[in-house]
Amino acid sequence: MYKTQIIKTKEILKQLISYDVLGGQSNLEIMQYITSILDVHKVDYHFVPNENDTKKSLFCRIGPAVDGGLILSGHTDVVPVEGQEWQSKPFEMIEKDGKLYGRGSCDMKGFLACCLASLDYMKNRVLTKPIYFAFSYDEEIGCLAGPALAKAIKKSFTERPEFAIIGEPTNMQTVIGQKGICVLETTVKGSAGHSSRIMQEVSAIHVAAKLMVWLDNKMVNLKTSGNINNRFIPNHTTLHCGMVHGGIAPNVIADTCTFYWDIRVIPEDNVHEIIDEFISYTKEVETELKQRYSLAEINTSINHPPVPPLGTTEDSAIIPLIQKITGNNALTTVAYAAEAGQFADEGFKTVICGPGDIAQAHRANEFIEISQLEACLNMLENLVDTFSETNNVTTKR
Ligand SMILES: [Zn+2]
Repeated sequence: MYKTQIIKTKEILKQLISYDVLGGQSNLEIMQYITSILDVHKVDYHFVPNENDTKKSLFCRIGPAVDGGLILSGHTDVVPVEGQEWQSKPFEMIEKDGKLYGRGSCDMKGFLACCLASLDYMKNRVLTKPIYFAFSYDEEIGCLAGPALAKAIKKSFTERPEFAIIGEPTNMQTVIGQKGICVLETTVKGSAGHSSRIMQEVSAIHVAAKLMVWLDNKMVNLKTSGNINNRFIPNHTTLHCGMVHGGIAPNVIADTCTFYWDIRVIPEDNVHEIIDEFISYTKEVETELKQRYSLAEINTSINHPPVPPLGTTEDSAIIPLIQKITGNNALTTVAYAAEAGQFADEGFKTVICGPGDIAQAHRANEFIEISQLEACLNMLENLVDTFSETNNVTTKR
């Protein structure tokens, strides 16, 4: 049965890769392919569409409507291939030296393929606890669909799923912690003029510089007297400004300056508190500026909803389960953002664990090792065994 599983997984992965759904684009066609597999296995499914029905997330349950089930979650979108030097066609899967190449092979259609290829095994056993699939869209442009999907699962079923595995590439290692991220944009409006009049006008660049220094001071403050979590490097929340636009010449006072920045929070910190603190500081500065130039303004906007951190603790009930089904006791953390925190926010005990190496994600010649898919299929098989009747009989307490 093992050999046929991997053949089936490869077939499904090849199809999934052929749908070149980038973050932001419609995913209806790839969803249609996924539902065609669910139909064959007679699995009922539900959708969580976007406003104008051009994209949708999918969720379904395999097994009985009882508490204590586990959600397997992944996204259907991928990142662009523009400007990357691919040696093969990115949306046509090719196999070479035990690796499968193609955009999304690793992040994270390989995981989706393993889930779908395991349906036979799931349906052939008598599950005493349910397994759910939760497949989203627009993950790559800011985990946009995760919150609504996690909420819909919580609301739609009478029973309460307990666990969630987000199958992002971790080389099948268990990730229990992830920093959250929020990306912001701040624009300062000042008054233009000859640079000799700097004391009469409001230089948007000078004001922006002051605000950026605030960000840096705030980070130093968090580092020296804020929360510390040694599971992360660095072990505190960070603030960073990565892009500044403003000004036209050295001798012209800039009337506009915009800077783009982010906050990466550890699970112990609240991103909204930091944003509120920054905003109230900008209000103070703005009041001062208005005395000099009445139209001076400072505005800050959040570029997309903040992605919450994941802070699953080592005593969480998902830890013995994931250790059992992966056969690996190690627990780790990652720096990248994923939908895990969004599922955890809805009360599901969540870890990230999936096939492939994040080092291969988002780059040219993305690949997944077939051995990683095998390890993932093994994990899913162990999950089914753990959740199925015969096993429950033998491990009865
Ligand atoms: Zn991903």
